[in-house]
Parts: sequence; structure tokens; C-alpha cells
Amino acid sequence: MSTEAPAIDLSSVPARATGAVIVDLARIAANWRALAAHVAPAECSAVVKADAYGLGAAEIVPALVSAGCRTFFVATPDEAQQARALAPRAVIYVLDGVLDAGFLAAHCTVPVLADPSDVSAWLQYCNKAGAKLPAALQVDTGLNRRGLSRRQLEGLVQSSDFAELAIRLVMSHLACADDPTSAMNSLQRDAFLAARERLPGVPASLSASDGLMLGAPFHFDLVRPGYALYGGQAFGGGRAPVEPVVRAFARVLQVRDVPAGQAIGYSATWTTRSRRRIATIAAGYADGVFRHASGSNGVPGGLIGIDGHLCPIVGRVSMDLVTADVTEAVTDDALSGQALWAELIGPSLPIETVGAKAGTIGYEVLTRLGRRFHRVYLGA
Ligand SMILES: *Cc1c(COP(=O)(O)O)cnc(C)c1O
Repeated sequence: MSTEAPAIDLSSVPARATGAVIVDLARIAANWRALAAHVAPAECSAVVKADAYGLGAAEIVPALVSAGCRTFFVATPDEAQQARALAPRAVIYVLDGVLDAGFLAAHCTVPVLADPSDVSAWLQYCNKAGAKLPAALQVDTGLNRRGLSRRQLEGLVQSSDFAELAIRLVMSHLACADDPTSAMNSLQRDAFLAARERLPGVPASLSASDGLMLGAPFHFDLVRPGYALYGGQAFGGGRAPVEPVVRAFARVLQVRDVPAGQAIGYSATWTTRSRRRIATIAAGYADGVFRHASGSNGVPGGLIGIDGHLCPIVGRVSMDLVTADVTEAVTDDALSGQALWAELIGPSLPIETVGAKAGTIGYEVLTRLGRRFHRVYLGA
């Protein structure tokens, strides 16, 4: 299979960098605008937890603010603090609840109360502070992960505590939104409608990247995409209106011609059946190349792209290095030329493919991208 020649100029990457992650900020902004248009008149927020899915919150949050995004979701208090500094006027919701009420309040961030212990911790803090500080309320509708159960919600709305809360948003999370045929979707939506009836007038949010593709009945007042902003295609029922934003390359450190019958890499899991040209590339599991993408005889692993060709990974992926069979891709001429780069993520190696080849998903491909690679932000 042939890939398009990289239209990307890697000559500006410092000589000492073993790899490069190229993040297109203009494309992330365009993806957000496309999703916002898709769900209008509902509001489109941005989920920027885990350092904006590993791609760099420090660069991405300001780009989204410039695009018009006014509401962000993060997971942890530290992420909330960072997001607040980057988006001084935005609403910032913290999914992991009330781990440190004083810290969240000090940064004017809004906890997502998803358990009775969150509710009591926030009420206690608000009483002490003498202020009715805003909070979001997460209800469980079938994921059985975070969120108040139906009974807990009922107990809360009937308690005297309820009047003490300033609930800005009621939200829930779908389990099977990537599958438009799943019966879970409408069951969860019905449960969410029932919960919302107990909180009249409170804005509501049910859907993330895949859920917002299920149509207007799933949009409510606010959608919460993360993965789709970063070009991910999570929805099994068709393409989301977004384009890929990330490419990753690593340097080819060495190319050697290996005779037939030689083993390659740790534990000698792959043996050449004929003379093969093997590239050793400066990327390993510490850089986000999954060890599960190792290739052994009989069990093919992942792929890397070289100069228009997709090449199989052969042998074990190690911490800093990966070996690939580049017999068809690297000619003698190419060897005498300038620096050789291997593509790890790109137009012919989308994050979904890279994930599938390692038994995982594109989400994990993004969030595992290592910190050793040089980062280039386009459209900054
Ligand atoms: C991570 C997360 C999202 C974003 O999910 P994507 O599939 O990346 O769009 C939305 N809501 C909650 C509660 C989440 O944990």
C-alpha cells in the first residue's frame, strides 16, 4: 500500500530530536467550529482533560478560546488550574468531583458533583465560605461509573440541602454512543429526561463526541466532545465532520540488511525468511509505540510509513526503538540521501488504525504519545 508523501517539512526539527509530533491548531479550531455548527443551537464545549488528550493543553486551550469556545471540561484539579490560567473567562467544569473544594473554588472552577460525598463536601465548603458557588450535577443513567443514582438524586432534591446548591448543569454520560443501533442510547436518554424533570430550568448535557452524532434528541443544551476535536472518529454510524490534527514521525537511526534465518529484537520473536532490509527507528513504548504492536512470525503487528510505503513492525517494540521491515520502502538511493523519517501517525496511519493494530483505540494512541518527541504546532 502506498501513502502520500509527507507534505510536511521536517527540516526545522532540531537535529537532536528523535521524533516529532505535529499538531495542527488551526485544524482543531476548525473541528470545534464544525461540531459547534453541527449541534447549534446547542452549545459546544471542549473536553481538554489529560493535557488535551496528550496533544498539549497549553497550546490547544487558547486556540479553542480564539475559535469561540467558552466552556471546558477537565478531569483533575491540576488540569482545572492550568485551564483557568489559559482561559480566564471560560466556564471550567472538573469531572473528578470535589477532591479539594478550596482549590477548585480558588480557581473559580466548577466541580461536577457525581456522588453524595461530592455534594456534601461542596455544601460544607460553600457554607464555610458563605457563598453559593456553582456546581454541575452528574446523574447515572446506565454507565454505572460516575453519577448520582436515581434514588440518590431523589433524596437530594427532597432534602433541605437542595436549596443550598447552585446547580448550573445537569449531565450524564452514554455507554454505547459509538453504536447507533444500541438500545442503551434511548434507554439512557429516557433516564436522563426523567432526571432532568427533577431539575427544572437547569441546562442539560448528555453527549460526547459519538453521542452528538446520534442526532438532535441527544444534543440538549451542551455537548462535550473531546476525541472528535482531535480528529478522532468514534462514531460507528458514519464520519463526524472533523479532520485529523496530528502527525507523528520518528528518525530512522539505522538501516541494515539482514540475511535469511536471523532473529530480530528481544526474545527473538521474528526470524527473517529471506534477506530483509531492516530499519531501526528512534521510537519505542516510551514514546507511545505500543508494545502490543510488536510483530512476530505468524502474528503481524503494527505498521510504520516510510516514504510512501507502509512497512510492518518486526520483532519486539522496546522502550526506545522499534524495528520495521523496509525492504520495499528503502532503496539504496534513499540510503545515500538525507535524514530518513518514519511516519507513526499520518494520513495513511490514522489513530484508529494505529490503535487497532495494537489492540486498543485511537484515544489511547493520542494520550500515550510520549514527551520525548519535539512538538510542532501549526497555525499557532
Ligand atoms: C472524556 C469525557 C468526555 C469526552 O469524550 P469523547 O469521547 O472524547 O468526546 C465527555 N464527557 C465525559 C464525562 C468524559 O469523561
